[in-house]
Amino acid sequence: MTPILPGSIAASGRLATLGVMGGGQLGRMFVHAAQRLGYITAVLDADPQSPAGCVSHHHIQTAYEDPRGLAQLAALSDAVTTEFENVPAAALAVLAEARPVAPGAEAVAIAQDRVQEKSHFTACAGISGVSCAPYAVIVQQADIDAVPAHLLPGILKTARMGYDGKGQARVRHAAELAAAWADFKKVPCVLEKLMPLRAECSVIVARGWDGQVVCFPVQRNVHVDGILAVTHVYASNMPSTQAVQAQAATQSIANHIGYVGVLCVEFFIVDDGSADGLLVVNEMAPRPHNSGHYTMDACDFSQFDLQVHAMAGLPLPQPRQHSPAIMLNLLGDIWFDAAGTERAPDWQSALALPGVHLHLYGKHEARRGRKMGHLTVTGADLDKVTSVAHQVATLLGLPGLNA
Ligand code: ATP
Ligand code: MG
Repeated sequence: MTPILPGSIAASGRLATLGVMGGGQLGRMFVHAAQRLGYITAVLDADPQSPAGCVSHHHIQTAYEDPRGLAQLAALSDAVTTEFENVPAAALAVLAEARPVAPGAEAVAIAQDRVQEKSHFTACAGISGVSCAPYAVIVQQADIDAVPAHLLPGILKTARMGYDGKGQARVRHAAELAAAWADFKKVPCVLEKLMPLRAECSVIVARGWDGQVVCFPVQRNVHVDGILAVTHVYASNMPSTQAVQAQAATQSIANHIGYVGVLCVEFFIVDDGSADGLLVVNEMAPRPHNSGHYTMDACDFSQFDLQVHAMAGLPLPQPRQHSPAIMLNLLGDIWFDAAGTERAPDWQSALALPGVHLHLYGKHEARRGRKMGHLTVTGADLDKVTSVAHQVATLLGLPGLNA
């Protein structure tokens, strides 16, 4: 891979350009990072108002599979990445015939399918010692009939297209399992044993074309109704043995498939009676992750900076966190008052608090459960950060901070 140097002039006479499949908020933050380094950006997303399309130099408005759109993206870009994990892997394979694509179609295909993802984790568990929750693959009625009792109560998850807790059903017994599978139109699923969670965490790594890996600190995450609400990142957020174990497991998950780009792996800390609990791997995202947004304000290099570095073949700096951080997600819910009338959140008061960094994604319509933005609280010490995070959460009505 010949590095695509920022500000360099390509053979066609244009400035070095980085392309991204998908125009959501992750694409928008990628575009900001790329532009800051001097790259031209190109976004492919059919939505004319997509958060990334609105801030990019080029916005190709076609479906992901449209051959003309893909040809245009390849013609405009010197390398291509993805911000949306359900981009058809076939589209990435088409782009890869013309340009370097990171992450590659094979890695994205694994992350798109919970069955493949769990086989990959199981293969890596031999090296890292971190396994996934006990599960069964459900593709036919016989699989439902053969489910062992120890997997119930469990969570039935569609193998593909799940996010933010969608495509999941909690099932207590065999009858509920059969009903939930029928509700999912009998598409391929995995049934996971419901684990007694003590906490959840995630790790983000960036891996280069040359195999170099750098790793962010471990994030402790709190979900509310299946959606990430709060991320805590500071020295005491987790037992240190588990933090080291989670980082090592993430690196082996990236290395094992020769991953190039930014990868996030989510973990559970399960109550197994031991003092620290048992680390269990949940799922991976082949892109920057919501739990890594704090890196923009609390680290010297953000996850989006490293996404740019990795795909362009630039050196990968070891990121350094310079401030304790608490990230709070801003869902559309806070755009509505108790009576259900739409109103703007009180930014004026929120921004008067010290160390509050607001990021809005430029979405026109607030809907309940929709990710509209996030804010990160940073400060000189954890007490200060915690106190401001509680104040801003109370002010805006944000959940999850006391978990
Ligand atoms: P996202 O992509 O937004 O992270 P997702 O829809 O792909 O989410 P998961 O990460 O599989 O879904 O699950 C969402 C949340 O549901 C988890 O973060 C966890 O809180 C809970 N959960 C999932 N699987 C289990 C399990 N086996 N036992 C207990 N809780 C679980
Ligand atoms: Mg998840």
